[in-house]
Formats: sequence, structure tokens, C-alpha cells
Amino acid sequence: EKAELLKLVDEPSKTMDGVEVELAANIGTPDDLEGVTANGGEGIGLYRTEFLYMGRNEIPSEEEQYEAYKKVLEGMDGKPVVVRTLDVGGDKELPYLDLPKEMNPFLGYRAVRMTLDNQELFRTQLRALLRASAHGNLKIMFPMIATIDEFNRAKALLIEEKDKLVSEGTDVKEDIEVGIMIEIPSAAIIADQFAKVVDFFSIGTNDLIQYTMAADRMNEAVSYLYQPYHPALLRLIQMVVNAAHKEGKWAGMCGEMAGDEKAIPLLLGLGLDEFSMSASSVLKARKQISGLKKTDMEQLALSAVECAETEEVLALVEEYTNRA
Ligand code: PEP
Ligand code: MG
Repeated sequence: EKAELLKLVDEPSKTMDGVEVELAANIGTPDDLEGVTANGGEGIGLYRTEFLYMGRNEIPSEEEQYEAYKKVLEGMDGKPVVVRTLDVGGDKELPYLDLPKEMNPFLGYRAVRMTLDNQELFRTQLRALLRASAHGNLKIMFPMIATIDEFNRAKALLIEEKDKLVSEGTDVKEDIEVGIMIEIPSAAIIADQFAKVVDFFSIGTNDLIQYTMAADRMNEAVSYLYQPYHPALLRLIQMVVNAAHKEGKWAGMCGEMAGDEKAIPLLLGLGLDEFSMSASSVLKARKQISGLKKTDMEQLALSAVECAETEEVLALVEEYTNRA
């Protein structure tokens, strides 16, 4: 079966009725690239840059970051690479930053909430990214965005650093797409407003599920509420994808749900453009998608968002995927 899957390495990801989607991979370090290429990833949908900052005693220098980003961009050879700016704080600690202990770390001072406040740290990362952009197809993504103002402030810093670099004569890619993670319900709910100002969305279901259901993703006692197929979550995804498309933007997903066999038919039907998952899931997903009809999955999705409970959604997925 492995050999069977490997035949799909260089194939496009296409439904039975000829609709193409992008199957990308999530990575944590440049060393992960090998697995992406070996498994036919069409891009990087999420590069979690926090690993560059963790397990050490000081902030990585601009040069060190530049080298890491450049390696990933060159390794992907012009294919899209979505790099997420630093997402630490809360439960992910960085000893040298001296972040406060919090009652509710998942509702606390993390990601852009922290980097917008620590401008030197943020500007260093943005400069490294901008310099690296000359070496491939870079897209920059901000994590944990809750308000338009946060996005505007992050983007303004990016533009400031870009203008500085350009005036110094440094090569910077002209049309870098700048997008956001959708992982906070407020952002999903006003996705129509965000779609006017961002270039793309990537839905972070790992967090979006916990915030939508108010169930800590690390707490066993409430894990029954962690329901990826819950109609409430599906409706949020539907709103996000539709809002993106209305403004001619693309919508992807980089949470675990994107590589989940039971979720893929629903996500396809909701119109998701890009699925980013662990590299080891890409070929299986490509095979699954090749056996699905987009038009059927659209019907499935329309019914699923009208369901009252997860169980009903799962029964519908069974029904629709066993039909073909
Ligand atoms: C997510 O929240 O779905 C996500 C991809 O980000 P992380 O898992 O790194 O919080
Ligand atoms: Mg997240």
C-alpha cells in the first residue's frame, strides 16, 4: 500500500470531478523538509518558528533566523511557504523573556499579544523573514489574531521594516502575501471584515476548537467537548471560507483537522483551498480526495452545518463517503 501511495508523489491533488486543492505540510524546523519532499507536499502551510526560539538561553539573532528561513524557502524551490511569526507565551515558555505566570495561559499573553509589545524581538524576526523572501515564495502569517487592529499593527511593523531594507538596497520579494491564523472565534465571526485587509486565512483548529467550546485542549476532564465535527465549528469554517472567497482570497487550514480522514470530505465540501498537515498524511489525503466528488461533498457540507450534534455530522460523512 505504501508503494501504491508513493506513485502519487508528483501528482496534483484532484477530486473525481477535477477540482484541485493544495496539500501542504506543517513543519517545525528546516530538517523537516526532507519528509515534505518525500511525501509530495505541494508547499509548507505552516512553519512553526517558535522552535527556533525554544530550548536556548537567548533570542536567535537576525542572521540565524535568516539562514533558517532561507533554507526552507530554497528547499521548497518556489513552492509556497507560509511562515508563522513567533507563537509563544501562555503555556509555551521562553525562559529568557521573563513572561508572567498566568491563571489562564491559553487566554493570556501569547503570540502577537506579546510580540506587538516586544517590538525589537518582533522586528528582528520580520527583518529576517523579509531578507529571506528573496529566495522563494514566502507568505507571512500572524498567529492568535483577535482584532483588525492587531493585524494592522503587525502589518505596519512589517511594512516599516520592508521600507527600511529596500532603502538600504536589500533584495525583498515584491508581493509577499500577508495573512492570519483564524484560531479565535472573534476573527472567524468577522472574517468578512478581515477578508478585506488580509491576503489569506489559515484556520488553526487546534485552538479554534478549544476557544469555541471553551474546553482547554490539555484538560482530560473536558476532552469530550473537543469536537472537530461539531456543527458550531463547521459553521465557523463555512463563514471563514465564504468570506475569503467573496474577496477573492484563499482559505487554508493548518490545524490537525486538515489531515483527518473524516474531516476532509467536509472541508472539501466547505470549499477549503489548502490543507496543511503532517507530511506523513499528505499522500493518504491525496488518495482520499481523488475518490471524492466535490459536488457531492458540497451537499454533505450543506447538510452538516444544519445538524444539531457531532454524531449526526459523522453519520452524514459515513453516508456520503460510502456512496461513491
Ligand atoms: C492551531 O491552533 O490549530 C495551530 C495550528 O497552532 P498551534 O497548534 O501551534 O497552536
Ligand atoms: Mg494555535
